Amino acid sequence: GRLPLQDKVAIVTGAGSGIGRASALALARGGANVCLLDLNDNRTEEVEKEIRELGRESEFYDVDVSDPERVRKAIESAAGRFGRIDVVFANAGINGTLAPIEDLTPEAWDETLSTNLKGTFLTFKYAVPHMKKTGGSIIVTASVNGSRKFSGFGMSAYSASKAGQVAFAKMAALELARYKIRVNVICPGAIETNIGENTERTKEVDKIRIPVEYPEGDQPLERGPGRPEQVADLVFFLASERSSRISGTEIFIDGAETLL
Ligand code: NAD
Repeated sequence: GRLPLQDKVAIVTGAGSGIGRASALALARGGANVCLLDLNDNRTEEVEKEIRELGRESEFYDVDVSDPERVRKAIESAAGRFGRIDVVFANAGINGTLAPIEDLTPEAWDETLSTNLKGTFLTFKYAVPHMKKTGGSIIVTASVNGSRKFSGFGMSAYSASKAGQVAFAKMAALELARYKIRVNVICPGAIETNIGENTERTKEVDKIRIPVEYPEGDQPLERGPGRPEQVADLVFFLASERSSRISGTEIFIDGAETLL
């Protein structure tokens, strides 16, 4: 039979690792050809290879999502090569530097906001012109930190970037409805990925004390972090026509963590 994403073309940012990698593979298994945007890193070439082995087309583009020209060129060449764009997963993101507000440098603030928030805007900006005729689905990875839960001291820049992504995506869902482009946000709790690799954490962060007990990140459904493949199932659903009436929403994938 026909696969749910047969002949569709997807763009995934941050596709070399974690949630992006698992989702790119899930979209490919569902029939899509997948363009992979990430920083130059042979991890992403591995994903490209895996997708080709699944019998789908895939192309890796070396892109810093905060760089307008790189994003524009990559998306244009992807649209040129594959002829269309149906699904976009704006997922690239970093924790950045975790520091108390008075120690957080303006440069560190900019790095987090440029990657997570400006990167999301740029991905939309350059993909939307290619989706207008056919419609499609755009999915954004925010976080529980974007609206419901502000855990982990030192995450002010990160949380601001994630909240910005949520607001941006909701505005986009309204604006892009005229093109039949759906826009949804996923808000994961802790997921086992490589995001800790490049996280900087100042000593001062560990000294922050507040006068109440600070909740740990336990997820009632199951101990420990979730798996990227569990997030990929949600991304797949939102990418497919099975979610054809869903737009402008935030979906939490956090094992009920934010109800505590
Ligand atoms: P990850 O580090 O495993 O993967 C992120 C990928 O994004 C990496 O391949 C990295 O190279 C890429 N990337 C980073 N900066 C980039 C840039 N400027 N341009 C292009 N690519 C860039 O982490 P992950 O956990 O899979 O993160 C994916 C998204 O999930 C992020 O937006 C993150 O904020 C969000 N998130 C993660 C968790 C978690 O617990 N892991 C929880 C909530 C939200």
